[in-house]
Amino acid sequence: MSRTIAVVGAGAAGCMAALSAAMNRPAADTRILLLESSSRIGAKIRVTGNGRCNLSNLEILPEHYFSVGSSDPMPVFGKFSPQELRAFFEERGVFLHSRGNLIYPLTDRAETIAGLFERELEKEKVQILTDTRIRGIRTEGTGYVVRAEDGREFRAERVILSCGGLAGRNLGCEGDGYELAGQMGLTVTACFPALTYLKTDCAGLNAADGVRCTAAVSLYDGTEKVREEAGELQLTRKGLSGIVIFQLSHPAAALIRKGRETFVVIDFAPEVSHEQLLRQIRERMKRVPEENPMLSELFFGMIHPGAASMIIRSAGQVEERRARKLHPQEIEDLLMQIKSFRVRITGTGGYEDAQVTAGGVSMSGLTENLEAVSRKGLYLCGELLDVDGLCGGYNLTFAMCSGAVCGRAAAQAQDERSAL
Ligand SMILES: Cc1cc2nc3c(=O)[nH]c(=O)nc-3n(C[C@H](O)[C@H](O)[C@H](O)COP(=O)(O)OP(=O)(O)OC[C@H]3O[C@@H](n4cnc5c(N)ncnc54)[C@H](O)[C@@H]3O)c2cc1C
Repeated sequence: MSRTIAVVGAGAAGCMAALSAAMNRPAADTRILLLESSSRIGAKIRVTGNGRCNLSNLEILPEHYFSVGSSDPMPVFGKFSPQELRAFFEERGVFLHSRGNLIYPLTDRAETIAGLFERELEKEKVQILTDTRIRGIRTEGTGYVVRAEDGREFRAERVILSCGGLAGRNLGCEGDGYELAGQMGLTVTACFPALTYLKTDCAGLNAADGVRCTAAVSLYDGTEKVREEAGELQLTRKGLSGIVIFQLSHPAAALIRKGRETFVVIDFAPEVSHEQLLRQIRERMKRVPEENPMLSELFFGMIHPGAASMIIRSAGQVEERRARKLHPQEIEDLLMQIKSFRVRITGTGGYEDAQVTAGGVSMSGLTENLEAVSRKGLYLCGELLDVDGLCGGYNLTFAMCSGAVCGRAAAQAQDERSAL
């Protein structure tokens, strides 16, 4: 009698899980069923990395991941490593290249990765049903029945849940996976948006919409520094954004949720010391005394002009003021603002602006093969789990490696009565 492995959700994790199950099929007639709520598989893959798909990273370490509870992604990489993931693509003709440590397809097109999954799933004879939103799961005998929104039911001996989280709502992510896991009695932690912008109560910052510069940003719990990141900062009408802010968004959101006083301190000239800046300003004013620059010109070449205007205005100064009219203390104050601009964080962007969901199904209830300890034959992978990574290819790596672990284990697991 033929058996079925059903995979619910065809994102990066689900596509990899279905493929791995198919490649490890225990019998030729084992059916691999990939059920997807939207009209196309891999919708989110296509928008990752600004359409270029930053699919992995040369360095995958524990410090690149967060968990709301105490889930640990590293054992997954012990079962299917990031190196195996890269080999998976290269063996199928997808050349990869890296920018720094960040890995992309050589084509720099996310479509290449989504297209590869489509091609390989077809080659491995995975049965794909799109427009199939699964809303229920129940046990039946030693297997499961998953029920679609329209009433169709699918019986499977093994089920892999890979429905993602809540981030990217326009891409079909409604958090159904948490409900399905809950129906099976699994523990789901609190969830919140991560890799998103931070809201501030600083009107001056918000008015500097459009500034993009390199900065070092430190996150503070009251007066205690909890994390520091350097990279691209964007000032937008909504708040602070850019990669440097995304990297701080999980710990910042966690502090806000605990009701802590949350601040960031921005260094707008991270590669130059306070003393170097001061020396440059003094030399500038000495070299051309007759110029007597306006404040708006004083920081020319030192920091982004939009950031300079914002700092001058936030310090209560006007940009037209002549620099030599400034008291030395006023110059010191401006430099302090350039090197340590402190701002209160009041919230984060929502799921519609987030790249990933923090929190999810706790891995403490799963085996090392990501099978539910309490539900034999039920596996979970990807963003649905309580693991979220920094920007840099860490989330897709975890999604695909965990998918590979589930798919392989589901195919190879011995049924209680007989092998699949
Ligand atoms: C704009 C954006 C850019 C990103 N860029 C990067 C990047 O460059 N690098 C990186 O590492 N990470 C990136 N991420 C994060 C990364 O894309 C995700 O963490 C990863 O894709 C999660 O994969 P997944 O398969 O677990 O979930 P998803 O990709 O969310 O896939 C889940 C799938 O399940 C389907 N589904 C949901 N509910 C049901 C249901 N009830 N029944 C059937 N199907 C269902 C969904 O339609 C979806 O296709 C980005 C995210 C976003 C939003």
